[in-house]
Amino acid sequence: MKTHKKILVKNTIVEIDGDEMTRVMWKMVKEKLLLPHLDMKLEYYDLGLKKRDETDDKITIDAANAIKKHGVGVKCATITPNKDRIKEYNLKQEWKSPNGTIRTILDGTVFRGPILAKNIPPSVKTWKKPIIIGRHAYGDVYKNQEILVPGPGKGELVFTPADGGQPIRHIIQDFKGPGILQGIHNTDKSISSFAKAAFTFALDQKVDMWFSTKDTISKTYDAKFRQIFQEEFEKNWKKKYEDAGIEYFYTLIDDAVARVMKSEGGFLWAVKNYDGDVLSDMLGSAYGSLAMMTSVLVSPDGFFEYEAAHGTVQKHYYKYLKGEKTSSNPMALIFAWTGCLKKRGELDKTPDVIEFAQKLEDAAIETVENGIMTGDLLKVAEPNPKNKQVYTEEFIDAIAEHLKKKL
Ligand code: NAP
Ligand code: MG
Repeated sequence: MKTHKKILVKNTIVEIDGDEMTRVMWKMVKEKLLLPHLDMKLEYYDLGLKKRDETDDKITIDAANAIKKHGVGVKCATITPNKDRIKEYNLKQEWKSPNGTIRTILDGTVFRGPILAKNIPPSVKTWKKPIIIGRHAYGDVYKNQEILVPGPGKGELVFTPADGGQPIRHIIQDFKGPGILQGIHNTDKSISSFAKAAFTFALDQKVDMWFSTKDTISKTYDAKFRQIFQEEFEKNWKKKYEDAGIEYFYTLIDDAVARVMKSEGGFLWAVKNYDGDVLSDMLGSAYGSLAMMTSVLVSPDGFFEYEAAHGTVQKHYYKYLKGEKTSSNPMALIFAWTGCLKKRGELDKTPDVIEFAQKLEDAAIETVENGIMTGDLLKVAEPNPKNKQVYTEEFIDAIAEHLKKKL
């Protein structure tokens, strides 16, 4: 039998384990696709809900700090507890979303992009290349104050300077009857981090960078976003973008939406918080399946955390617990690992690691293109007599076999 030497991954990868069906798939991906071929130093953090509860969620903070130390991490999906989960896991308290905690510590922006296979056509015919969404994850309506206006009266916007200066006041509306009122904010610091992360990631992926707001209407608020992006571009990116042969393109959000629908893809689209919430779900479903979306958190300091865009696939897990086999799709988890390995290889200057990750991605996509796929994909795949739905483990085994031929 041919034995092969494992590929050495030079520096540490932070491995963050998670919950439910994704935890089950995580183990299979590691054991069948990675460990047979790679010699990796993994610093392991178990963010399974039980462990988070035992450590009073300190493990989440430790994991985020480990990414700061080593630069690159890969994360499994985790449960964000709610009232039901408190009962199910007998929790001490309703711990915060681990992703929220990690994002706050790394000051990151989340980028989501699709995994494309030839036989899983996007709903939009012109899309040939991935469209990556970069969503600002701070402020706007997600951190607002709202008033239910009961009747006639004055709605005002007031800023009181901390240094005792003159307050700034604007009348929003002189209400003649009942209505609603909302106050939102953002900070130069957060917008600037968002801009840096977006410019970093587009350059990293060697794709054009689009940014869109509604600054014709919002002449101060959205205009500030546009201004900060423009200044950041001129100051830190113009030359690098020219050298890489990519462009920065600003346009109004409605114009951007119209252009996206007719484009062939192949760019990063940075958007404000609410736009990102809405548009990333639209893109996710248009590209076929939640399990074909990858997600990466990029911090302005150059730390990277890779994960799947989907959750823990709870419904499948309950079937699994009853001893049933499930056809859950591990593609986004596999791509979280390959994304992380490519980045590690790039930082370590180890092309053989990058090459391995690329071969694994190719093996996974070609397996789907050869008609072997999980249930979610079979529903949206181009009809073909050779298409066959397989269980999760069979799917991973098929990828493992195909990968061996490439190595
Ligand atoms: P979900 O895990 O994304 O699953 C929603 C549905 O999408 C599934 O029931 C399944 O549909 C389909 N699906 C998602 N991923 C799939 C995959 N890999 N293969 C096949 N089908 C897939 O969302 P959820 O059920 O709303 O949330 C479950 C838990 O995940 C929650 O506790 C939530 O807090 C957590 N969550 C974590 C993250 C994260 O860590 N990044 C993100 C979101 C949610 P069918 O049932 O129709 O097959
Ligand atoms: Mg949403």
